Amino acid sequence: MIREAAAGGARVPWDVGHVPDRDSNPPPDTCNHSGMSDVRIAVVGGGIAGASTAYHLTVVHPDAEVLLLEAEPVLAHHTTGRSAAILAGNLSTPPNRILTRASVGFLREPPEGLVDAPLLAPRPVLHVATASQSRFVDELLEAGSGLPSPTAELTPGEAVAHFPPLRKERVDRAALDADCYDLDVGALHQAYVRGLRRGGGRIATSTRVDAARRDGAGWRVATTEGDMGADVVVNAAGAWGDLVAISAGVEPVGLQPCRRTAFMVNGPGGDTTGWAFTIDVEHRWYTKDDGPQMLCSLGEETPSEPCDARPAEVDVALAIDRINAATTLDIRSVNSAWAGLRTFAPDRSMVLGPDPAEPAFVWCVGQGGCGIQTSPGAGRLVADLALGGDLSAAFDGADVSGLLPGRLRGHG
Ligand SMILES: Cc1cc2nc3c(=O)[nH]c(=O)nc-3n(C[C@H](O)[C@H](O)[C@H](O)COP(=O)(O)OP(=O)(O)OC[C@H]3O[C@@H](n4cnc5c(N)ncnc54)[C@H](O)[C@@H]3O)c2cc1C
Repeated sequence: MIREAAAGGARVPWDVGHVPDRDSNPPPDTCNHSGMSDVRIAVVGGGIAGASTAYHLTVVHPDAEVLLLEAEPVLAHHTTGRSAAILAGNLSTPPNRILTRASVGFLREPPEGLVDAPLLAPRPVLHVATASQSRFVDELLEAGSGLPSPTAELTPGEAVAHFPPLRKERVDRAALDADCYDLDVGALHQAYVRGLRRGGGRIATSTRVDAARRDGAGWRVATTEGDMGADVVVNAAGAWGDLVAISAGVEPVGLQPCRRTAFMVNGPGGDTTGWAFTIDVEHRWYTKDDGPQMLCSLGEETPSEPCDARPAEVDVALAIDRINAATTLDIRSVNSAWAGLRTFAPDRSMVLGPDPAEPAFVWCVGQGGCGIQTSPGAGRLVADLALGGDLSAAFDGADVSGLLPGRLRGHG
């Protein structure tokens, strides 16, 4: 268990929830290349990034004491609980694509005992373009040419076959990514929590980290529930990542949270089996069926302060206009709406690993619009890097320098 605060400090409730004993048989992928024992690691943020990292820390460093600290009363309350739940290969920057590739194995075959049902269900992604958007289709085809299942151009008629509500006369060009999936985000997050507990890790909800200061080789971490000591602090605080860094005296990396709104409307009825996730090639709208409803979004990126994001009516209205113009869905009312913050580093790649100036402060931020699908790879990479160990086989041959914090400080 992570040690209590020194005399005079309040005690953080490490024992929140039922925490079973460590398995007598460790998981098969357990290894300890760090050779360090009893290292106390505090992971700040209980979204998908923090949960995956905390779990992978227990796998890579089974002797470490791992504590996941979440400000909210429940885990995954912020961006993680608000996504479109898609895994798409032809998405985001080349460094982030390394993480997607490194994640697919875990998502297809999670470690035994962590899930009760498959995490992935096939769902092609269909990109559609009007005549004025043609060059974006060329860029997309180029970016997707190296994928195991390359992005393929479709005729407008073929596009309509993949998403029947499309107005064929509005489609000039289209492209399909066939090897994409719906993700069960709740089950994935729960898998990390299960694995974390199985590995002896602990979770403290309703525990906000307010500050951290250096204390010898480690940290004194001040939380709303009292102080604690830690040898390493992992910053997985999503939109709040730079604020957590500043509160620890660490230079921020320039994160920008951006609001994105999503909403549910009634579907057209009938059998929607096999329909693609359909997205404007410039991400000006997207939609996918979700049971009897359709999930829709404007695909906007509106800069925001870190906050509990709320949907903007104007964004919902604009999305409805665009989707009704491109499809026959004839949306007239909205059943529910929400918004989440997608948080980007200046170059839109994630920021993972020890801070160059403060190696006991480890970054796991900038998940942007692909933090769910990349979470197994990102969590594993942070766990590999946190105590200075070797990278796991999932990163063989990969150049991860574009993910390290040093690139943003001229340490490329
Ligand atoms: C509309 C929308 C659609 C999306 N669609 C997809 C998709 O299809 N596929 C995909 O892969 N990604 C998608 N994303 C992106 C994905 O949701 C995010 O990249 C991911 O959830 C980010 O996870 P996180 O853990 O970094 O952040 P969060 O889930 O926000 O977690 C950060 C946590 O840190 C906690 N915290 C902050 N400060 C402190 C503190 N001081 N002390 C303790 N705790 C703290 C917060 O309370 C929060 O729970 C989408 C996002 C949106 C908004």
